[in-house]
Amino acid sequence: MAEADYKFEGWLGLDPSSANGNMQWGEFEPKPWEETDVDIKITHCGICGSDLHTLRSGWGPTMYPCCVGHEIVGTVVRAGSQVEGGLRVGDRVGVGAQSDSCRGRKGDCEQCSSGQENYCQKHHTGTYNGVYMNGGKSYGGYALYARVPSRFAVKIPDSISSAEAAPMLCGGVTTYTPLKYHGAGPGKSVGIIGLGGLGHFGLLWAKALKADKVVVVSRTSAKREDALKMGADDFIATDEEPDWARKHANTLDLIVCTVSSTSMPFAKYLSLLKLDGTFVQVGAPDDGLPAINQFALIMKRIKITGSLIGSPADIKEMLQLAAEQRVKPWIQEIPMKDANRAIVDMAAGKARYRYVLYNEQPGVSRL
Ligand code: NAP
Ligand code: ZN
Ligand code: ZN
Repeated sequence: MAEADYKFEGWLGLDPSSANGNMQWGEFEPKPWEETDVDIKITHCGICGSDLHTLRSGWGPTMYPCCVGHEIVGTVVRAGSQVEGGLRVGDRVGVGAQSDSCRGRKGDCEQCSSGQENYCQKHHTGTYNGVYMNGGKSYGGYALYARVPSRFAVKIPDSISSAEAAPMLCGGVTTYTPLKYHGAGPGKSVGIIGLGGLGHFGLLWAKALKADKVVVVSRTSAKREDALKMGADDFIATDEEPDWARKHANTLDLIVCTVSSTSMPFAKYLSLLKLDGTFVQVGAPDDGLPAINQFALIMKRIKITGSLIGSPADIKEMLQLAAEQRVKPWIQEIPMKDANRAIVDMAAGKARYRYVLYNEQPGVSRL
């Protein structure tokens, strides 16, 4: 394949102030090319809460310069001679929050050989602020081009638009996998806490998986109407209903919590679970989870667990479900040039429910 005749440029965070809308446009060095790689001309990239945590070094020191964005959709413009999945130049693909793992085979890495690369304990490369197996640094999708190992680039079904597919690649799969894994479906009552990017997907998937009842737990009633339009069967506004925890106690089998604040009412959330209920934390606060009293767990044999994004196989399965059930995320498209404004608005909670950046170059399909 030809050497790249394009430049890798994007919005770079240079220090924690970048999270305040201070990213700078500039060039970056993609990972050293391998024949298992693809180069992607980016058309769309969703804005995930994790982009903000990373820009501000919220989870620990970020390796600046950092180009965030891990809900990437675009067109393959270069494919190595050993790509996986039969990818070819011209294919429309998506890349989520992970773009490399140890690549081990059976006996070497149980996770990578069983389609659970997201839980690889040897090497997990985030699509940005990470290091590839060959030593290159990872840069994300607020950019014109991305270079990633082909195993982590997934074909997008024709019936899903690029703008709608983009946020599924992280926000979508992060809620899809725990719902699927913990059996959200007929006979189950599911709670989704926080109606943001992840939370709105949680609601849409729980409905698509045919859970008996899906309850949205939000801070205020501002999003009630939207939640009901998305299919919610009930809605709890925790800041406005003083008695909410008692009123809705023992009603849910499974909760997926997307909240990223340490000040969340954790014990009250747990009280919503029935005996043997499961609480899955996916939101990742900078300062950890609040302390809880042990009896919140002891009295009802409650399980607290977590879940990390999804593997390429999970992403494919989710896209299939989205195509079959015509799951439509609620997105707002914003030109790439306005990325700084968009992250500030995202941090202020204005997204309804996911911002998707798009590149405006002529000739790029905006399907
Ligand atoms: P988001 O769109 O900002 O949504 C977060 C939602 O949490 C808000 O819409 C809000 O919902 C609720 N919330 C925010 N602050 C709150 C507070 N102080 N108290 C109670 N609720 C609050 O962000 P996102 O993109 O969905 O990401 C959410 C979190 O998931 C982030 O921490 C992100 O890093 C993490 N994440 C984790 C994974 C993983 O693999 N585990 C993957 C992707 C993202 P209401 O307005 O309805 O209250
Ligand atoms: Zn994400
Ligand atoms: Zn591995």
